[in-house]
Amino acid sequence: MLRITGGQRRETGPDGEYVTRRVSGSAATKAYRCPGCAQEIPTGMPHVVAWRPYGDGGDRRHWHSSCWERRSRRSPRAPRY
Ligand SMILES: [Zn+2]
Repeated sequence: MLRITGGQRRETGPDGEYVTRRVSGSAATKAYRCPGCAQEIPTGMPHVVAWRPYGDGGDRRHWHSSCWERRSRRSPRAPRY
């Protein structure tokens, strides 16, 4: 079972709104595949969980913290200034 510590917050990126939570290393008891880089997030590594604010939370994804931060800056759909 996934234990999540800390608060959650809403973030708006180029692909819409997400709710995110920081998962601490001690709470990361399972390995996940990061959708940002397709690499594994090993157990014990602090990372980010993100999901849509609507729906049942079944679209929850685990991201490397760095991949989550990069995602909003590298999106091809980001507007050009
Ligand atoms: Zn990643």
